[in-house]
Amino acid sequence: MAIPDDGAYTRNRGHIVAVREPKLASETAEARMCRDDAAALLRKIGINPTAQRIEIASVLLARPQHLCADELRQVLARTGTPVSKATVYNTLGLFAREGLVRELFVDSGKVVYDSNTTCHDHIYDVDTGVLTDIEPGTVAVEALPTLPAGTRVEGIDVVIRISRVQRA
Ligand SMILES: [Zn+2]
Repeated sequence: MAIPDDGAYTRNRGHIVAVREPKLASETAEARMCRDDAAALLRKIGINPTAQRIEIASVLLARPQHLCADELRQVLARTGTPVSKATVYNTLGLFAREGLVRELFVDSGKVVYDSNTTCHDHIYDVDTGVLTDIEPGTVAVEALPTLPAGTRVEGIDVVIRISRVQRA
């Protein structure tokens, strides 16, 4: 797989030394976690399990997946529990702050919520908008810039942006 030649990765994240062929996962979004389980999970991490939070958690946390706020709203509406845009955004922000989901800034103006909070990187296809997991340990970051005094690396999220190669 070719690294996009736009320099974004090396400017922002250091230097990629090894990228092996990623394993790609297919994405669909209709599964639901049982509402009682979703409520219990919210309570466990100290989030008040309101009806709408339970609906959102039951869709988002049903399995490892990436959903943006609009996609999540569409799934909720399709499955008979429409939730307002403001509530979806507020709830996703809360879930991200509490570590229930990972917030990924994949492109300017596009935020995706990942129900898999374990350490892993991503490939983002700018042509299709599809975000795919990369197996942990596949991307190696060898060099980092000098950090401001008194700081440490909290985490490194790699998003490799790809697009179709235009043939002449
Ligand atoms: Zn992911």
